[in-house]
Amino acid sequence: MENCENLAKCAFFIEFKGNPEVIKKGWIRMFCEDQNKSELCLRKQYKKQHGIPPATNMSPTGNFLSES
Ligand code: SF4
Repeated sequence: MENCENLAKCAFFIEFKGNPEVIKKGWIRMFCEDQNKSELCLRKQYKKQHGIPPATNMSPTGNFLSES
């Protein structure tokens, strides 16, 4: 299975891949490690629409995580 093509430079992935909430929700497995499903990632859609990435703490489903 292909990863999301943004994975290597995605600030959310880099900062939060080890975050307990992220692990609990399974977002990395659900979106980042599945190229097809990553098309549903709201971060990816935001970047396509705006040309810049969203806030680092915005999750693939659009929730905002606390920075800690
Ligand atoms: S959070 Fe979204 S844009 Fe970032 S690597 Fe995961 S699927 Fe790709």
